[in-house]
Amino acid sequence: MVKLRPYQNESITDIKTFFKSGGLHCIIQAPTGSGKTVIFSNLSMLVAENSKKTLILTDRSELLYQAGGSIKKTGLQSMYIQAGAKFISNAFNCYVGMSQTLRKRYKLPYWIEFFNSIDLLIIDECHDQQFNWVFESGLFDNKHVIGFTATPRHSGKMRQLALDYTKIIEGVEVTELIKEGYLVGDDYYGIEPPDLSNVEFDHKTGDYKTGSLFQKFNSPTTYTGAVKNYKDICPDTKTICFCVNIEHCVKTAIAFNKEGITARFIVSNLSRPKIPENKENAGKMAKYVERKRVYDLLQENKHLTGERKQIFKDFHENKFKILINAGIATKGYDQPDIETVIVLRATLSTTLWLQMLGRGSRIYPGKTHFNILDFGGNAERLGHYTEKRLWSLWHEKFEGEGLPPIKTCGFHSDGRPIQVNGKPGCTRPILASYKICPFCGFTYPKKELKEIDLSMIIIDSQNHTAKKTKLIKEMSNSELHECWKDKGHKTPWLWKQLWYKGGTEKIKEFGKEFGWTQSNIERAIKFV
Ligand SMILES: [Zn+2]
Repeated sequence: MVKLRPYQNESITDIKTFFKSGGLHCIIQAPTGSGKTVIFSNLSMLVAENSKKTLILTDRSELLYQAGGSIKKTGLQSMYIQAGAKFISNAFNCYVGMSQTLRKRYKLPYWIEFFNSIDLLIIDECHDQQFNWVFESGLFDNKHVIGFTATPRHSGKMRQLALDYTKIIEGVEVTELIKEGYLVGDDYYGIEPPDLSNVEFDHKTGDYKTGSLFQKFNSPTTYTGAVKNYKDICPDTKTICFCVNIEHCVKTAIAFNKEGITARFIVSNLSRPKIPENKENAGKMAKYVERKRVYDLLQENKHLTGERKQIFKDFHENKFKILINAGIATKGYDQPDIETVIVLRATLSTTLWLQMLGRGSRIYPGKTHFNILDFGGNAERLGHYTEKRLWSLWHEKFEGEGLPPIKTCGFHSDGRPIQVNGKPGCTRPILASYKICPFCGFTYPKKELKEIDLSMIIIDSQNHTAKKTKLIKEMSNSELHECWKDKGHKTPWLWKQLWYKGGTEKIKEFGKEFGWTQSNIERAIKFV
């Protein structure tokens, strides 16, 4: 039996109370790293003790095994249901199934019978639209359902969570997990102090007012300068880097390697693009040329990538420093010794933002914190890593309402005309998001990214304030001491920063200045 942490016990008590009061469907909000698989293993165990059955639904095979693994530790036997499954054994009290597999079967009588035999359904990462079939099928209307997620949030035209669940039970907070030593805290480096004072805060929903945020939503900017900032801020740290797309991944990997920093990238498979049959179609030809260019770039840099499993293995074994991807290594990817997360993109998704940060927050021997290098102003838009968020089962449908934004081919969205190689566009109306005109093949020039120096920013999540400070390497002893107190990091963080600045000599000097005892100085030196 796996021993539960105190807050995990509380979650289970909350669920029991909810069910006892007649509730059927609830969401448990729990941050990445809070050990939710352990919670649902224990729930399954409790259910099995009453000779009842649990089905755990997930959408990723990694999670299937992770989930199954921690269930095994509880001593409970479970059956996996994955692609190709035809029959179910009645002998189990717990089933762990891939959502994609079961979605294909839920209308078949044999499988309906199976679903009817289930008493408790647990849905992992339940914010995902993938699980809509569960509720649309009606099979679980009168059964107990618990959804687990770090970010219970839907947006735009997505199905309202309130149709499927009646309550969100909020679990432990990130700050609490850091304090108890289950996660590490962060050092945040961003574009500028997120000036939250200009954005109206709606205390009812706990979110920024949509009106005042609309501008920011509309123009997310990504900056560049990953290599320079890495060298300045966190040289030699084990790093995961998130890019926008394949081309961006390849180019970022090239830039790091050029500076002698070993970096590898992983991207989804790209098949060789086919020349369009109708070569007269300028739109299709332009698209082909663009795809071929990215394909060739990828081929030329094969030596910086490889088979996904192998790259993960090499990264695990520290054969290179920086792992670059465009969203493959997010949920379910666990490499706890990662010290730095570089976000080279602007996202509008809270889920993705927190998943990216979650790759750095795991505890590891000797790890005192993790660095966030945010080139997309994401903390300003989506909130800081440790920020207390309020969640709601309902969401505004303002996104996707109304007409899609349109521009005229050969013009920017704001009406300014552009020419590429002296050629104008065909002036037909096209979607504002198009980079290539489907009619004439007019190809919009790529935006030049601005290189910037990130600043260290100390965020007070409680009071929604942020202040910019010097980089640690430029701080005097007393400034570093103040920074340490402001951030609320544990003492080993300070030891490590001193060591980075000037090795054991610096620790001794600092210790003398701040009146540390000899044994404390020795402890610090021993730690680093
Ligand atoms: Zn055109």
